[in-house]
Amino acid sequence: MFLTISTTGSPERPATDLGYLLHKHPGRTQAFSTSHGTAHVFYPEATAQRCTAALLLEVDPVALVRRGRGKGRGGAPDVALAQYVNDRPYAASSLLAVALSAVFRSALAGQCTARPDLPEQVLPLRIEVPALPARGGPELVHRLFGPLGWDLVEAGPVPLDEQFPEWGDSRYVRLVLEGELRLADALRQLYVLLPVLDDAKHYWISSDEVDKLLRAGDGWLAAHPENGLISSRYLARHKRLTQNALERLELVRLAEADGSEVEEIDNAVDETRDTQERPVPLAVQRRDAILTALRTAGAARVLDLGCGQGQLVQALLGDVSFTEIVGVDVSVRALNTAAKRLRLDRMGERQSARVTLLQGSLAYTDKRLTGYDAAVLSEVIEHLDLPRLPALEYAVFGSARPRTVILTTPNVEYNVRWETLPAGHVRHRDHRFEWTREEFAAWAREVAGRYGYGVEFLPVGDDDPEVGPPTQMAVFTAVTDHETPKEGEAA
Ligand code: SAH
Repeated sequence: MFLTISTTGSPERPATDLGYLLHKHPGRTQAFSTSHGTAHVFYPEATAQRCTAALLLEVDPVALVRRGRGKGRGGAPDVALAQYVNDRPYAASSLLAVALSAVFRSALAGQCTARPDLPEQVLPLRIEVPALPARGGPELVHRLFGPLGWDLVEAGPVPLDEQFPEWGDSRYVRLVLEGELRLADALRQLYVLLPVLDDAKHYWISSDEVDKLLRAGDGWLAAHPENGLISSRYLARHKRLTQNALERLELVRLAEADGSEVEEIDNAVDETRDTQERPVPLAVQRRDAILTALRTAGAARVLDLGCGQGQLVQALLGDVSFTEIVGVDVSVRALNTAAKRLRLDRMGERQSARVTLLQGSLAYTDKRLTGYDAAVLSEVIEHLDLPRLPALEYAVFGSARPRTVILTTPNVEYNVRWETLPAGHVRHRDHRFEWTREEFAAWAREVAGRYGYGVEFLPVGDDDPEVGPPTQMAVFTAVTDHETPKEGEAA
């Protein structure tokens, strides 16, 4: 999968400014590991007159097939020949869009700390994708890119085999775009339209895909004549999400039409949330349930174990009753994102005294974690292999031993209610297991008994009469006069 972005320079501006915008040095070849393979970024040409950046994604087809099948529970693997004989590694598609957003994140967001003036500049751009799967062919490519301000949109059909023209065309086109655009706008268009053209979005669609679509569509999607088709395909033809996206785009379009500020657009979007009672995303319901449980427990000094990108830490900072907040994660990358999200470097002294981020693994005891009022483990245990779980149990309930432990995990029974989750799949590719309500309760009661805690269970999200809630939560409370067993010792 291959994509190039070129620009030409002018007397005031060398073409190599592209390197600043992409946050990738023109003199270097860099490789990034993404969820589907390795992405390479390099510059086939980098002079003041002309500069071209190339993004090459080397997909691991076997990983892709495995991932597509999910690390599900038991049963025969549904290996079809088609999965092995697939064209994913060769064609630009949704995977390239994912790589694009991972590798050029700041450029997509229009950020450039080294040269803050650059992202706003309109540049002469040429973008080329030699093999783009396009369901709908060159005609659809023109309908999609035509209204977006490009001077040239070329979508030449790629013959199935150059040697045998009589075989006709493949489903690929060679895409060339030329025009004067801001780089961030061009990248956002590609981020949305590559998977739309491919029409085979490979990942699970969750409700935050609508937010991603709106964010990436900022400034161009609302007024696009094909926004219905774009939204529907981008959201894998999920009806309710598409409807939701279109309603929100309509509000944006109306606001754009009266020249309202972006600020007002955001408000308008938020108002519909209230008036139409759109469902609150599960992640938000989970965070609210955790905050309520922490407040009920009267916790002031809180550990967020497996804090990920710091969303809960941020919410905790917003409530002064939480005086000390410690986020712990094994992933340095997640912690870096959390630090950025929290703007730790720009935080006032008082706020920053309340928060600490620590790198560490919950599979090991850690002295730094003792003496807290409460620990939260939100959607963490399912990321550990089952044989590692007792080590976490000991580290949290035996060693750190906060008075309260609030723990959430998916309820696998609810998976049949996710319209877009194929039967037998877990919700996230890194989930090592997902439990039924009964399995979770049995585990939690056993751990509570072993370490001297009482445990209560609470549903999070829509509590379905048949399959229960999407998220299950256990609140453990320490029984004071309990003697902690040593690691590995059963009660
Ligand atoms: N608590 C967050 C993130 C959940 S994702 C939320 O609710 O949104 C799971 C997180 O657990 C990831 O950030 C992962 O890096 C972290 N994690 C997985 N295994 C871990 C371990 N052994 N020690 C510490 N963190 C771990």
